[in-house]
Amino acid sequence: AKAAARGSVVFYEPAMGDQQRERRALQDELRFAIARDELLLHYQPQFKIAGEIVGFEALVRWQSPGRGLVSPAQFIPIAEECGLIMPLGDLVLRHACREAARWHMPLTVAVNISPAQFRNGDLPHQVHTVLMETGLSPARLELEITESVLIDDFSRAISILSRLKALGVRITLDDFGTGYSSLSYLHSFSFDKIKIDRAFIGDLATNRHSKAIVRAVIDLGHSLNVPILAEGVETSEQLALLEQSGCDEVQGYLTGRPEPIAEYGDLTGRIHVR
Ligand code: C2E
Ligand code: CA
Ligand code: CA
Ligand code: CA
Repeated sequence: AKAAARGSVVFYEPAMGDQQRERRALQDELRFAIARDELLLHYQPQFKIAGEIVGFEALVRWQSPGRGLVSPAQFIPIAEECGLIMPLGDLVLRHACREAARWHMPLTVAVNISPAQFRNGDLPHQVHTVLMETGLSPARLELEITESVLIDDFSRAISILSRLKALGVRITLDDFGTGYSSLSYLHSFSFDKIKIDRAFIGDLATNRHSKAIVRAVIDLGHSLNVPILAEGVETSEQLALLEQSGCDEVQGYLTGRPEPIAEYGDLTGRIHVR
């Protein structure tokens, strides 16, 4: 009777919405994109506030034959949804480390690690393997993570971070001030750098609240002995305010856009902001 009942069940396929159809299409194309090597990295320089270059953040792009250059804001969330973030993340890490190992100056390379990538798999093992394969000195690799990884499973996250630290790589707290910022995270793990989200930098010159928050974060970082990098610096006025507030490092369109690494020359000389 049970089998008969089951046999008589009719499944109604809900009509696929346009949005859902587009997402499916993107997933399929992205899967091919990884296989066809259509992903590439752009690099954005990071500077000491006084002007000396520190390193580059690797930012992934997708050169799609049909869609043109696709922004990570469009495909990273989709890759996270369907699990493609794992091969994609591995590709990015490998490419970035291989490239950085060839630079003439021992600059750092910062790689974004998505929460899904952090949660699944064995990131410390993966990082160790890539470092061995590329020969990049661990101290030159920075992993940028967001606070959300600490919310999911706090003790597991701390154990992963500690294993990464033991490899000698640096850990940066990205997008600080957005999302679920909690000061207790700063207390439970010693990050090597904190990046203030560009939301606070954009209106730094016009919004006294942003200015107060930026100053407070810089002071907090300094009392914890953690350097602060301001991201999204677009104007010299913002740069001057950050310098006055004691900010340690900057990154933004003012000092350099994300570009293919070839655009940044041979990296043998000292590059100055001003
Ligand atoms: P993010 O980690 O916060 O990266 C900074 C974003 O700000 C980049 O956008 C960068 O191009 C942009 N940006 C830099 N300077 C300025 C500025 O002065 N003004 C403005 N308005 N924007 C600026 P992008 O490259 O589009 O990346 C967006 C996000 O996608 C990144 O945000 C990051 O969360 C994610 N992403 C990028 N590459 C990767 C990757 O390889 N792996 C993972 N998991 N995520 C990535
Ligand atoms: Ca980042
Ligand atoms: Ca950021
Ligand atoms: Ca961001």
